[in-house]
Amino acid sequence: MNSNTHSDLAMPVEAKTLLFQVALDQSYNSVVITDANTQNDGPHIIYANPSFEKMTGYALCELIGRSPKILQGPLTDQRVIEEMRLCIQSGKFFEGSTINYNKNGSPYNVEWSISPIKDQSGVIQHFISVQKNITALIAVQQERSLLAKALNDSPDCVMITDIQNKIIFVNTGFEQLTGYGQDEVLGKEPSFLWGYTSSEIASDNSDPQVFGMHFKSQAPNLRKDGAVFYVDQSIAKIQDDAGNVTHYVSFSKDSTDRLKQELELKDLASRDALTGLLNRRSGEQLLKQYDDMKQPPNNMLCLIMLDIDNFKKINDTFGHVVGDQVLKASSQLLKNEARITDSVIRWGGEEFLIVVPNSTLKATLKFAERIRNSFELKDDSMVGVVTASFGVAQMQYGESTASLLNRADKALYKAKLEGRNCVKSAK
Ligand code: GH3
Ligand code: MG
Ligand code: MG
Repeated sequence: MNSNTHSDLAMPVEAKTLLFQVALDQSYNSVVITDANTQNDGPHIIYANPSFEKMTGYALCELIGRSPKILQGPLTDQRVIEEMRLCIQSGKFFEGSTINYNKNGSPYNVEWSISPIKDQSGVIQHFISVQKNITALIAVQQERSLLAKALNDSPDCVMITDIQNKIIFVNTGFEQLTGYGQDEVLGKEPSFLWGYTSSEIASDNSDPQVFGMHFKSQAPNLRKDGAVFYVDQSIAKIQDDAGNVTHYVSFSKDSTDRLKQELELKDLASRDALTGLLNRRSGEQLLKQYDDMKQPPNNMLCLIMLDIDNFKKINDTFGHVVGDQVLKASSQLLKNEARITDSVIRWGGEEFLIVVPNSTLKATLKFAERIRNSFELKDDSMVGVVTASFGVAQMQYGESTASLLNRADKALYKAKLEGRNCVKSAK
């Protein structure tokens, strides 16, 4: 049975004293011991360990008998010093931090504690102070709070998500742009707002386009009040020392006004002023897209080329203004008949092209016939019945859109030759 007690293990007093001396001398923390003199300039230093000498720049012989006040200077917080004075006067433990000065006069941030050392009758005879230079720590904290402040005060919208795609930080710019407060979005996925998920980004992270690059997202985002806004966004990944992605940070700028203007201008440039249909330039661009497709275009693309019959006569009889009205009404008729996936283009004066994707020749001929019939049924109060002629062509394997267009044009010519107001298909 082990009958050892703590007192059995106690060292002889001399050995203990020696150990304490060595421990203090080798302590990482700075230790200084003063007497408890509260007269005149207060307690005096009776011991300081090498770490304290190193921190303050004073040699032990320069410290002994001096007041610790020698370490104070203009930036020393006198409120903390007063608090410490009151605290130790009442025999309590003190803990605080302030700025002290080393022998060279350079300031450093110190964190220190003071404990009273009482004799056997309970009278305070000494004070022991353990101190630590926390300048580097304070500098890191200040840098961090500066960075946080810079992020927060940035007029741009800043959002940080973790690897689980949850929002962990948004700045005030984000709150202003989206109308959502920080509390409402923390822990949510950005997709509720931006329309993408970071797993989409992660799966695409081999693409150098994705990271560090700028997105000019044309996708609409929704503010809390339901208003639509657009952003220019760049996303960067944050990696740890081992190179693992830990977070994503996105910077966004409101581009709503600019994008709206761009879209309006683009729309204006792509449309025919009189009829509001796509203009010939847009039509040519659209056809070019089919030629540029990586996959060879399938034969499900059809074109309808149509031309109003004897339009010159309408102009000559009723005047140019009425001619314009007929063009507008004809365009409206075409828009009404077309599917959402069809594109109706004003190709020339009174000539129109309808691009009909995913349709067979047979179905497109039927479609053209329906339009022809609609023209015929529409009896304009002033002009009377206006008819049109139609040429239909279906894209053949490997055919260019120029060739397809040419064949549709030839079919239209045939319709004109064969008496107008009819639909002909190309060979
Ligand atoms: P066809 O049946 O052979 O097509 O005969 P057409 O009279 O329709 O054809 P033609 O090409 O001889 O005449 C087309 C006319 O369309 C000539 C041109 O002055 C007129 N035109 C072209 N653009 C406009 C326009 O924007 N407004 C008006 N009012 N007329 C236009
Ligand atoms: Mg004509
Ligand atoms: Mg014509």
